[in-house]
Amino acid sequence: MLDFTYDTLPSRVVFGVGALDRLADEVDRLGAAKVLVLCTPSGRARGENIAGRLGGRVVGIYDKAVMHVPAETAAAAQEEARRLGADCCVAAGGGSTIGLGKAIALDGGLPVIAVPMTYAGSEMTPIWGLTEGGVKRTGRDPRVLPKTVIYDPALTVSLPASVSGPSGINAIAHCVEALYAGDGNPITSLMAEEGIRSLSKGLQIVIETPDDLDARSLALYGAWLAGATLGVVSVGLHHKLCHTLGGSFNLPHAEVHAVILPHAVAYNSVAAPEAMARVARALGAEDAAGGLYDLAVAVGAKVALKDIGMAAGDLDRAADLATQNPYDNPRPVTRDGVRALLQDAFDGVRP
Ligand code: NAD
Repeated sequence: MLDFTYDTLPSRVVFGVGALDRLADEVDRLGAAKVLVLCTPSGRARGENIAGRLGGRVVGIYDKAVMHVPAETAAAAQEEARRLGADCCVAAGGGSTIGLGKAIALDGGLPVIAVPMTYAGSEMTPIWGLTEGGVKRTGRDPRVLPKTVIYDPALTVSLPASVSGPSGINAIAHCVEALYAGDGNPITSLMAEEGIRSLSKGLQIVIETPDDLDARSLALYGAWLAGATLGVVSVGLHHKLCHTLGGSFNLPHAEVHAVILPHAVAYNSVAAPEAMARVARALGAEDAAGGLYDLAVAVGAKVALKDIGMAAGDLDRAADLATQNPYDNPRPVTRDGVRALLQDAFDGVRP
C-alpha cells in the first residue's frame, strides 16, 4: 500500500548544451541588476566567462570559494556582497562555489543562480554547510535553494577525468540513499533509479571521451536527478560517514564518497533489498555493492581510503565519531559494524 509525503522544491531548471546563453535573460527574469559572480581561485577564468556574458549587470567576481565553506570565507563573501550592493549571486562551479552562494543567501537572503560544473548536486538542495574550528555544521533552509539552475553540459567538458569520476559517484550516492530513505517516496525513487542509470552510462563514456556532449548531457542530467532526490530526503549511514571523514580528517569530498559507497551499500544491503535491487538494475550489475565498486574502478576513482589520505591509526576514532549521534538508517548502525566497514574501505577490498 502506498503511504508517503512528498515536498516539491521551488526551483527553475534550464538544461541543455548552450543553456548558458540564457543566463542574462534568467538574471533579468529575477529582476536582478547587480550580480556578484562566485567561483574558486582556479576557476577564475570560468567566472570571468560568466561575468562577460552579463555585461553591466556584474558588480564583482569573488573567486575565493573553497571546499566545505569555512565560516571566515562565508563572512568575507557576505561582507563583499553587502559592500557591492549585490542583489543576486551567480555561483559558477562545483559544490564548493554553490555552497558559498548558499552561505550568502543564508545571511542576507540574496537569490542565487547556480551554474553547476561538477556532478555534486548541491544546486538542487536547500542544504547549507559551514565549517568552523574543523567542525562542519549543516542545515536545511529554503532560502538557500538556488532560484534558477542553468545546466549546460558544455561547461563540464573541461572537468578532468580525475574529478568527473568521483564527482559522478558522489551523485550516485545521493540516489542510492534516496532509494532506502525512511522519508523516501515513489517519485524520488523513480528519479533516483534513473539518476543512477544516467550517471553510470554517461560517466563511463566521458572518462574515455571527455568532449562527448551526449555523454556529458546524460551524466549532468543524472546529477540533476541526484541533487533533486538529496534535496527532499534524509540521508543515512553513507552520507553521515563521508561527512565525518571529510570534516574531521580533511579527506577530499567526492573521493571519499567514491570509496565509501560500495561498503555502505554492502552494510545496508540485507536491510534494504528492494532498494538494492533497483540500484543493481540501474547499473546493469548482479549486485548493488559489487556493481558500484566496479563502476568506481571503471571511472578511475580511487577505491581505498589509504590511497586518499586516511591514516590507519585514525580508523578507530573515525568509527567513534561516526557512531556518536544516532540517525535513521535501514540497518542499525553499530560501532563494530562501522569499524569493520571502515577497515574494508581502508584496504579497498571489493564487497
Ligand atoms: P568542488 O566544487 O571543490 O570542485 C572540484 C574541483 O573541480 C575544484 O578544483 C574546481 O575548481 C574544479 N572544477 C569545477 N568545475 C570545473 C570545470 N568545469 N572544469 C574544470 N575544473 C572544474 O567539488 P565538488 O565535489 O563539486 O563539491 C564539493 C563540496 O560541495 C563539498 O564541500 C560538499 O560538502 C558540497 N556539497 C554540498 C551539497 C549540498 O546539498 N549542500 C551536495 C553535494 C556536495
